[in-house]
Amino acid sequence: MSAPLNYRRILLKLSGEALMGEADYGIDPKVIGRLADEIIEVQKAGIQIGVVIGGGNIFRGAGLAEAGMDRVTADHMGMLATVINALAMQDALERLGCVARVLSALQIHEVCEDYIRRRAIRHLEKGRVTIFAAGTGNPFFTTDTAASLRAIEIGADVLIKATKVDGVYSADPMKDPNAVRYRALSFDQVLADQLRVMDATAIVMCRENNLPLVVFNLNNAGDLVRIVKGESLGTSVANHLPRTGTGA
Ligand code: UDP
Repeated sequence: MSAPLNYRRILLKLSGEALMGEADYGIDPKVIGRLADEIIEVQKAGIQIGVVIGGGNIFRGAGLAEAGMDRVTADHMGMLATVINALAMQDALERLGCVARVLSALQIHEVCEDYIRRRAIRHLEKGRVTIFAAGTGNPFFTTDTAASLRAIEIGADVLIKATKVDGVYSADPMKDPNAVRYRALSFDQVLADQLRVMDATAIVMCRENNLPLVVFNLNNAGDLVRIVKGESLGTSVANHLPRTGTGA
């Protein structure tokens, strides 16, 4: 007997860096292929899946602005970087036989569809993997905020954020050996303790709209499908903590 599904519709946030693998720029075809496999596994489990991809493996607006570029232009470049990544993911999914669509917050009609909420929901209902590109379409935002926004707009049951570590820690586990992982946290605690989960705008969006968040390690193959099937992995962030399993 297969496990009951925890969610009907999810929004997965992948950072641009997740596509780089061991490289320090661009897209590793092997890595994007593995990620596409994991997404397809979720889809085959009967879950509708939307994906927001970042652009940090190509351009980040803040970095370009630090180097002297006009910030708005820099953010436009960052958003276009997310479109490149979204097209690469669409291609990786299609090569594995999956139907996927890219919907962009910036209009690029020769390349992909516009983001139209009702169209997005239609794609999801038809079982297509729906990739949201170009963030929110506005400068000064991040793709984490775009992920919380799209998740709320499409009525996702959860926002699942992929990272390189096993969840949210009290300190950076790559630097501090005493860092402990939280199993469950409230959004208020994330904000008060300035925990590096997502930027504050994204966290507030989740909190105000009661959208639960799960942070997990993308490098653990199979964890994504385990989470959607109900296993408690990574760190869960919500407005109300469960009675058990709080704390580190
Ligand atoms: N960006 C933006 N508005 C948005 C989302 C993204 O201007 O709504 C730009 C911004 O310059 C950002 C870049 O796109 O640095 C790439 O997105 P992000 O840094 O969130 O990517 P990630 O860190 O997830 O790879």
